[in-house]
Amino acid sequence: MGIYYTIDRNFCKIEIPNDKPEISQRVYNSTNTSREAVKRLHTKILQSVENLRGSMVDTLTQLCRIPAISPHNGGTGEEAKIQKLKSIIESMNLKGAALKIEHVLDSDSPTGNRPSLFLEYPGKSSRRLCILTHIDVVPEGERSLWTIDPFDPVVKGTRLYGRGVSDNGTCLVSSLYALKALDDAGIVPEYSVLLAFVADEEMGSHYGAEPMVERNIFRPDDLVVVPDSGNDAGDFIEIAEKAVWRLTFTVTGKQVHAALPHTGINACRVANMLAYEVDEALHKAFPEEDAAFEPPFSTFEPTRRAANVPAVNIVPGRERFEFDCRVLPGVSLDEAFGIVERIRADVERRTGAKIELEVDRSDSAPVTSPDAEVCGLLKRSVREVLGVEAKTGGVGGGTVAVFFRQKGIPAVVWSQECEGVAHQPDEFTEIEYIVNNAKVFSLMMINA
Ligand SMILES: [Zn+2]
Repeated sequence: MGIYYTIDRNFCKIEIPNDKPEISQRVYNSTNTSREAVKRLHTKILQSVENLRGSMVDTLTQLCRIPAISPHNGGTGEEAKIQKLKSIIESMNLKGAALKIEHVLDSDSPTGNRPSLFLEYPGKSSRRLCILTHIDVVPEGERSLWTIDPFDPVVKGTRLYGRGVSDNGTCLVSSLYALKALDDAGIVPEYSVLLAFVADEEMGSHYGAEPMVERNIFRPDDLVVVPDSGNDAGDFIEIAEKAVWRLTFTVTGKQVHAALPHTGINACRVANMLAYEVDEALHKAFPEEDAAFEPPFSTFEPTRRAANVPAVNIVPGRERFEFDCRVLPGVSLDEAFGIVERIRADVERRTGAKIELEVDRSDSAPVTSPDAEVCGLLKRSVREVLGVEAKTGGVGGGTVAVFFRQKGIPAVVWSQECEGVAHQPDEFTEIEYIVNNAKVFSLMMINA
């Protein structure tokens, strides 16, 4: 093991063998001054972050006022918000910072493309700490469920309310102000810093992180943090994800008057049978558990059902419904598909309805080792700021970290985040969490 002290521009490394506690004691005694210096440095950085508390809330408020909703989900994309963020960053005059916008063609976007913004800041080492957040948000949903205007954020008590202030606005702002805090304090980070503000996370990252990773903007030795999920305690580091597997069934029967059902084929009834049988069969076939995940089993959930007929006295001739499944890495998606396909064909044969199945599959990626350097760096910083021991584990999937892991770049997902507010009406963030996340990121930047 080693302990790394970074004192402004002077870098010294002190190795303490595990089996020589007496040496460890000697080193400790001889480095009391260094320890004091480290303590002072950390205090200075954390204070510099504290000084930016008001600016962070202000920046998050300004960004939230610009809805960055996917053109594939009723919005106009990220361009306006990226430009706003770019001008905010430019006004910070960060020393030596380079800004770059990468575009991905999207004919559905009013600009013809989707932008992601990158901020690179030189550190002592060319090795980079990358923090990737997403700039897009989901639509407000049912407007009447909001007690505030979703795109005109307000502070109430200790919280800031608005669409996207938590997902992913909190950490977007935290990552930027972690860097600004170092810049303000005149401290050169140990690692070079790459902040990525990417498009399209909410709709699958096809115009954001996925092509960015494909373009080799990130390097194999980058330390990558994706703070797009977390908990209130800030004590969970996600290093593994389940595969995300989505099934869309379209049942075509024959629409008739409800008084004469025998003359048609009721697509609603066929869909009910099909959903029930698929649900039963998948749960029965894959009961495996893995304690590293929460929940520890694969999930197979019937979720969305499209509207069918406009009146109660009509037997529907068409039903469309979906399953959202989160599958443990050990489970074969080919085998699962075989089971669903057999049921589909069987129900089709029994009912005379036509059933189409579309599958959206993203396989689980390799797990980031709990011993990866980025895990240790994050754990130390979390311990110092939040006073908790973070544990590593797996979740239900769907984060951007997968694209990195598929490329062999160890990535972790972590943040201190309000639980259960993402995508909900009256989404909020605790202002304290914005500050805490920024503190953790700034300590990571100096390799504390
Ligand atoms: Zn998110």
